[in-house]
Amino acid sequence: MKIITSLPDLRAARLSMQGAVGFVPTMGFLHEGHLTLIRRAKAECNHVIVSIFVNPTQFGANEDLSKYPRDLERDLNLISALEADAVWTPTNEIMYPKGFQTWVEVDAITRPLEGAMRPTHFKGVTTIVAKLFNAVQPQRAYFGQKDAQQAAVIRQMTRDLNFPIEIIVCPTVRETDGLAMSSRNKYLTGEERAAATILFRALSAAKDLYEGGERNAEKLRIKMREILASEPRAQVQYVSCADYDSLEELDVIQGKTLLSMAVMLGKTRLIDNFVLG
Ligand code: AMP
Repeated sequence: MKIITSLPDLRAARLSMQGAVGFVPTMGFLHEGHLTLIRRAKAECNHVIVSIFVNPTQFGANEDLSKYPRDLERDLNLISALEADAVWTPTNEIMYPKGFQTWVEVDAITRPLEGAMRPTHFKGVTTIVAKLFNAVQPQRAYFGQKDAQQAAVIRQMTRDLNFPIEIIVCPTVRETDGLAMSSRNKYLTGEERAAATILFRALSAAKDLYEGGERNAEKLRIKMREILASEPRAQVQYVSCADYDSLEELDVIQGKTLLSMAVMLGKTRLIDNFVLG
């Protein structure tokens, strides 16, 4: 497996690859969720490139950029065991050269949910993913359903900018008690970790209502809020029952629907979602 930093080295490695190239962008500190994306890419493509880059522009001023967990050596061992062809670990100087002033912004779909809580987040995400796509030039790129709005925004950007890349969204990988795997779970204290299952339980309760025939979206939002309120450590940022494609809040559920939420547990921000229909 090639471990690459510079852009010329990445381009040379890419040029040597024949057939379909699958790309898995990550911020490192890998867990089973990331590894599932890499395995899927490996199964579906002739070559796999993984990137590790903690993208500073997608973090807000008061967010966790400086303490975002990192363990490059462990990450490289995990990726190497899955037989990816290359790992690209660009530096800030490569991705944001001195005097940088070009941004990629996606409109309406970035405004609700995560965008409402983190107003500069998606501008950072779309800019870095566009730059990664330009450099890697994959045929397919793999993202997790865990970050549902991110996946929707990337799909929109890929269509709008005519990137010849198929976006593949893989199911959320969870711990045995239902907590969605996340690099940020490392921040949770023992008590917060136990409380963190409340997101899965709230989503499951709303899904049960849906499966029992409930189509009033507000009833599902109320149910999720009710369950979250039963956990005193959980501070709700938003709870949503929205159209899967537009992410607009629904009155009546019809077709593919996204249940989603963001919850603070102490200082740690957790997000999770279920897809209905
Ligand atoms: P990150 O390193 O957090 O930026 O995540 C890199 C990719 O892994 C993104 O496409 C995420 O959506 C995906 N991912 C993160 N956690 C999970 C999970 N629990 N299950 C599936 N995919 C995930």
